[in-house]
Amino acid sequence: MGIKMSQARDQNGHFWDAETYQKGLGAEPLLCMHCETSVAHNPPYTREMYDKSVFVPGYFRLRPKGAHAAHCDYGVDEEIEKIAKSSEDLIESIQHDRYRLRLVMIQESLAGNAGKPRQGDGERRQGGRTYTSNPALLSAYVNSANRVLKLRALCASNEEMEQHLELVFEGNTTVSWDQFYFEQERHRHAYHAVSQNTVAHPIAIQGRIKSVRYAVKDKPSSNVINLVMNKLQVDPNDPSNGIGLEVSIWSNQPEWFKGFKQDDEVVVLGIWRHSVSEPRPAPMQGGRYETLTNRRLSLTLVLKAQISRVEPLKVAGKRANVDPSTLKQRDPR
Ligand SMILES: [Zn+2]
Repeated sequence: MGIKMSQARDQNGHFWDAETYQKGLGAEPLLCMHCETSVAHNPPYTREMYDKSVFVPGYFRLRPKGAHAAHCDYGVDEEIEKIAKSSEDLIESIQHDRYRLRLVMIQESLAGNAGKPRQGDGERRQGGRTYTSNPALLSAYVNSANRVLKLRALCASNEEMEQHLELVFEGNTTVSWDQFYFEQERHRHAYHAVSQNTVAHPIAIQGRIKSVRYAVKDKPSSNVINLVMNKLQVDPNDPSNGIGLEVSIWSNQPEWFKGFKQDDEVVVLGIWRHSVSEPRPAPMQGGRYETLTNRRLSLTLVLKAQISRVEPLKVAGKRANVDPSTLKQRDPR
């Protein structure tokens, strides 16, 4: 579905904002701001979370099987190409508009294998191609991975990345994007993957910050960011038990959390641990659940670059000269 777009233009050249657009306001089909491909509108909405509602911004996106023209600013492949060029071989080009990212290089970076020569001094042959993981470049790999994650966060789904960027792990096993990148609504899938050991590679979890806490229990080395939890899920084995899942990011470097605050949208890459508590009585009597079970996914940062803020959607070109409020009065059909 491509990169989410905050604006689109209609057949008469009027510009529309995704936040305020409603079907029929503009002369449809609406078009990308930069090329001639037609786009669809996903309106903003409110998502019910564990203990509050959050606003999910609206956006314009490609239609199914649609594609941006070559060199359009909203084309994912162009962006991947740019990242690949400065990725120190983390991402290689395999054919026209297809790239490959080696998750094993990221895992080595996070496992702190720097300076520990492995068989062949870090040089390996995989699928006929030799690559060298250079310890000096470990944080560069994570930085490049980060740029990929930020690009993914701008996309409407994993699908677009899947088309252009293949993920491989050890032994050249291909990893699907659905087993690598987990948005808010797929946190429980991430928990499943980690707790069932179905993944050994690093995974990325996107979510919204609920709290940033420093010196937990008066320990200066104990700092944590918790993400906003999804609504409780019914325990399939016991309908009176509700299951919650909290995602926590720990660091012993408080300065790494400076610049992050409540409600920031972030993506975090790494090797996650899981834990689960025994069911406890629900705090609210007479609610839907008698007991609650807390599941937790947590990660301790090895590098600051493992966590980054998701950028807001980019605004393309100049804004319309026309006041949108006058446009809304035009023949709404
Ligand atoms: Zn375009």
